[in-house]
Formats: sequence, C-alpha cells, structure tokens
Amino acid sequence: MKIAVLADIHSNLEALHAVLSHARAQGITKFVCLGDVVGYNANPHECMEEVRSLDLLGIVMGNHDAVACGQQSLYGFNPYAAQAAEWTRNQLSDEEQTWLAGLPYKQDILIDSPMTRFSIVHASLNRPDSWEYVFDTHEADVSMQFQWMPLCFIGHTHSPLAFERSLIETIGGAYDVVRLNPDHKYLVNCGSVGQPRDRDPRAAYVTYDLDKGAIQLHRVTYDVAAAQKKILAAGLPEYCATRLAAGR
Ligand code: ZN
Repeated sequence: MKIAVLADIHSNLEALHAVLSHARAQGITKFVCLGDVVGYNANPHECMEEVRSLDLLGIVMGNHDAVACGQQSLYGFNPYAAQAAEWTRNQLSDEEQTWLAGLPYKQDILIDSPMTRFSIVHASLNRPDSWEYVFDTHEADVSMQFQWMPLCFIGHTHSPLAFERSLIETIGGAYDVVRLNPDHKYLVNCGSVGQPRDRDPRAAYVTYDLDKGAIQLHRVTYDVAAAQKKILAAGLPEYCATRLAAGR
C-alpha cells in the first residue's frame, strides 16, 4: 500500500488540486494530513472541503487551524500571518470551526502490516501544542525523545527535511527518498503543499510505500499566478502572494 502525506496546505486550492492529481495518478487513495489546512491563502472553505472528502488515515491540528477555530491566540504570528489568520477565521462557518477544533494535536497510526506504525504531529512531539520548529539534528533529537513509533511525519517549517537516529548518532538534511532501516528511528518533514519555503516554489508532499518501507518526496508545479490573483482579490497581504513565486 502506498499513501500520500500532505502538510501545510494553507488554503492554496491550486496547489492542493495539483498534488491530489499527482498522487491519484500513482493509484493512491489514502491520505494523511499534518495540519495547517487553512491560513495565508484565499481558499479556506474549498481546501477544507477537499481535505474532508479524502479517505484520511489521520489528520492533526496545525497552529493556523488552532487560531482559525479560536482555540489559540495569535501569539507568535508575524503581522502577515496574523492578518491572514483573522481573515480566515472570519471566512469559516461555525461548523467548519467546530470541525477544526476537534482535530487532535498528535495521532498514532497503526496499520495491520509490518513497518506501518507511525505518528503524526504538526510541529514536534515534545510539545505538540506549542509549535516548536525542527530545523536541525538537535531539535530533531528533542522531538524524537518523545517518539515511541519508528517513524513520525511532521510539517510546520514548510521545508522538507529527514532525520535518522541510530544508536550512535542523529543525522539529517534534505532528501528525495528515505529507505527505512527497521533498527533506526525517523522524523520526516514532508514540506508544504500550499506555501513552500525552501526556495522551490513547487508544491511539496510525500508518498510512503508501506510495503517497501520507502518515503519519497515529490515536487509538483501548479498555477502559482492563479493562487496569487485570488490572494490579492481577497484583500490578503500582498506578501502572501509574492512569497509563493519565490518559494519562501
Ligand atoms: Zn504552516
């Protein structure tokens, strides 16, 4: 079985559609979502509707979801993110906010075959509701101290990075494919569907081949100009549009 892992969609419908088509073309029907379905871009309803219609093995809350449903304050948000978050919150219906509010901060996924136990969390396992950033091996080690599963998928930084911990050391960095060694532990950031920040504007997501124990990063081109046009038309901050083309 092969599944797709989507993180940080951020209301970018053009990017989400491109990623879903790319995954479905590989025969994928099951998905995992790492949170931040909304925020920054112009299609919160449509992205929520699309995500809710997927066959989801699991989905967790992101910091933008937590603000959009009124569960957390704007503390820690930069001015652009805050303005977009307030706009998003005003767009969402009570029913949509209630659905977001019901998302867990962390989830363990257990599938009935080998190599198929993994955790999902938006930011980090040590404090799932306080949105720590994992950019280096030290930060990865902190999260992995709380990781009971051989594998955990994370998002939040919008930068695809993979960390591998053996008895000797933790190593990590950018990746295209991760082949899982059953004796090691893995923390894998899947990049961002809707607002990549690693200087590559293409949408990012991951497929996980459960039988082969292999994780693959995909980059998918999408209609950035259409997403930008909608952001400006909605009165969202211009920076939310310009950053999409720069991938930052
Ligand atoms: Zn995010």
